[in-house]
Amino acid sequence: MATNERPPDEQPTREELEKEVFDLRQLLEISKSLSSTLEYHELIDSILHICVGQMRVLRAGIFTRKEPVSDDLVLHRNYIGFEVDHDIEYRIPAESPLYRFLRENRRCYEPGELERKVGLPSAIARLEPDLLVPVQAKGELHGVLVLAERIDQSAFTPKEQDYLLSVALFAGIAISNSVLFERSRTDMMTQLKMRHTLESCVAELRSETHRHPFALVLLDIDHFKTVNDTHGHNVGDEVLKTVANALRSSIRQNDIAARYGGEEFAALLPDSGKRAAWEVAERIRNSVASEVTTHDEIEITVTVSAGIAVYDAERDITTADLIKRADQALYRSKQEGRNRTTVAD
Ligand code: GH3
Ligand code: MG
Ligand code: MG
Repeated sequence: MATNERPPDEQPTREELEKEVFDLRQLLEISKSLSSTLEYHELIDSILHICVGQMRVLRAGIFTRKEPVSDDLVLHRNYIGFEVDHDIEYRIPAESPLYRFLRENRRCYEPGELERKVGLPSAIARLEPDLLVPVQAKGELHGVLVLAERIDQSAFTPKEQDYLLSVALFAGIAISNSVLFERSRTDMMTQLKMRHTLESCVAELRSETHRHPFALVLLDIDHFKTVNDTHGHNVGDEVLKTVANALRSSIRQNDIAARYGGEEFAALLPDSGKRAAWEVAERIRNSVASEVTTHDEIEITVTVSAGIAVYDAERDITTADLIKRADQALYRSKQEGRNRTTVAD
């Protein structure tokens, strides 16, 4: 990055032009790399590493939207180098003057300038950033980059700030695409993956199965029609959300939870044989049975029946074969009295 700025009437030197070409090539590479990543966490990681490497800073973070229901930007786990206090929430509320200002203005800002103009939330000031950069795309604020502690302690030149704005623009478009992609794979009511997402994950695991076993658990709420008939469809929906939360909190980070159909759920468990899958299915079943949905002071509890199939390359020629075996095991659980788990043999 050029650190010396030329007077405007002077011709650029050959060295400066070469540097410019180099920077543009770098930007092109960054743009290619960011636009080829749809996986959200991978993308955030890439953005942070690009900032650290290109801007020679020791600390970089990005405030982004975390909850689908809120536009607030939070730091969450998206930072490198910062020492964060886990008792403090690092948040830029969507209603704050800072958020509105950064949505409307596309420039790099030193914290002092923002403090004077719109005020800085104290949690952000505590990070002691040197520079804040809005990450915008399609008229929306998708994030705010915070950079701190340059290795050589120099200030960011206007050229470097322009460069950062280009990186932020690519980052904004990539984040926006990734969020849309994730949304198209997620059931909005329960925030679980949709059936087609789960099935493409099964297909992916099948292609690498000579290395790892994996299991599919199908779950179906017992007598769910009675819940709807007794309390109404809206209350039924609340119960579905309770079941989804119980499912989500009973699995590991690498497992995938899906809403498979109306009141049917699924868990895809990589690296799991019969015994491990059984334990997870039982944990889900017990967790669902212990959760209560409260509506108008009425407490509703439901149970689920589960069917497990562990992938067997000889029998599961297609993804549908594996699903069918899990479904048959689930059917047996229903037949044998519900609120139980059956493993397909
Ligand atoms: P079983 O124990 O045999 O599974 O009994 P069940 O009553 O749960 O079985 P069934 O599959 O016959 O009924 C499922 C019901 O789930 C029927 C449908 O109205 C309800 N349902 C499906 N999707 C939704 C939804 O999104 N919201 C609500 N509230 N109900 C739903
Ligand atoms: Mg059903
Ligand atoms: Mg049911």
